[in-house]
Amino acid sequence: MNSTTLERLQEQMQSLKLPQAAADLPALLQDASKRELSYADFLQELVGRELAAKQERHTQMKTTMARFPFHKTLESFDFKFQPSIDVKTIKELATGRFIADADNVLLLGPPGVGKTHLAVGIGLKACALGHRTVFTTAAGLIGSLVRAHQENRIEEKIKLLVQPKLLIIDEIGYLPIERLGANLFFQLVSRRYEKGSILLTSNQSLAGWGQVFGDQVIATAILDRLLHHSTIVNIKGESYRLKEKRKAGLLARSESYTAESVADNVAGDNR
Ligand code: ADP
Ligand code: MG
Repeated sequence: MNSTTLERLQEQMQSLKLPQAAADLPALLQDASKRELSYADFLQELVGRELAAKQERHTQMKTTMARFPFHKTLESFDFKFQPSIDVKTIKELATGRFIADADNVLLLGPPGVGKTHLAVGIGLKACALGHRTVFTTAAGLIGSLVRAHQENRIEEKIKLLVQPKLLIIDEIGYLPIERLGANLFFQLVSRRYEKGSILLTSNQSLAGWGQVFGDQVIATAILDRLLHHSTIVNIKGESYRLKEKRKAGLLARSESYTAESVADNVAGDNR
C-alpha cells in the first residue's frame, strides 16, 4: 500500500472516530502481510484494538468520576493475611452481579483490616464493568446532605445521589452523626432501596449503630433497608498497617493492636 493511501485511510478512520485503529493501522498492515493473515483476521484485529481502547477510555472516565481516595485493586489484596474474609464472597462481589441486582454490601471490622482497600477494589471492578460509581466518606456525605438541606436543595442533592449504580460510603461509625444528618441519611438509603447498591464500611458492629446515629429507631430503619438484600463481610483480624510497622521493627509483637490501630487509623495513610 502506498503512503498516500495509508494516510487517507488513517484520516478517514479519524473522521469515523476510530483513533486507535488509525494509530495501529501501519503496524497491523505490516504484521498481517508478514503473517499472511486472512482479510477477516486482519479486520478482527483492527476492530478489536479500537474496541479495547474504547473500553479502556470508558473505564478511565468512570474511575475518575468515582473519586476514589486511592487506587488499590483486589489483585493487590493479600487474602492470606486476613483469613476471616471468604475469598469466594469477594470474587462474587467483583463480578458486579450485586450491582445489577441493586443489592448492598457491608464491610465490617476494626481499623486497618482492609475495608477501604476492598471497597476501592470492588469499586474499580464496578467502573470496569461500566457502572457509574461514587466513593464518599460517611462524614463527607452527611456534611453535604446537611448543607443541601440548609440551602433548600436537599431534593436535588438526593436525586443526584440516587443516580450512581454503586454508592460507596466509607467509615460509618468514626464520628457520631447528629439527628438531622441521621434523618437525611435515612432518606437517602430509602430512596436508593432496591434501585441502586450501597457499599458501606464500618468499624462498628451493627449493634453499635444506634449509638452512631444517636437514635435506635433511625438506626433500625436504616439497617432494615440496607440489610434486606445484602452481603455482609465481617473482618476479624489484625491491622495490616500494624503488621507493616511490626515488620519494620517499630512495634513489639505483644502490643495490643486495638488502641494502637485506632490512633494509627486517624493518622492513616489513606486519606
Ligand atoms: P481500613 O479501611 O479497614 O481501616 P485500609 O483498607 O485503609 O483499612 O487498609 C490500611 C492499609 O493497609 C491500606 O494501605 C491497605 O492497602 C493496606 N492493606 C490492608 N489490608 C491489606 C491486605 N490484606 N493486603 C494488602 N494490603 C492491605
Ligand atoms: Mg478505612
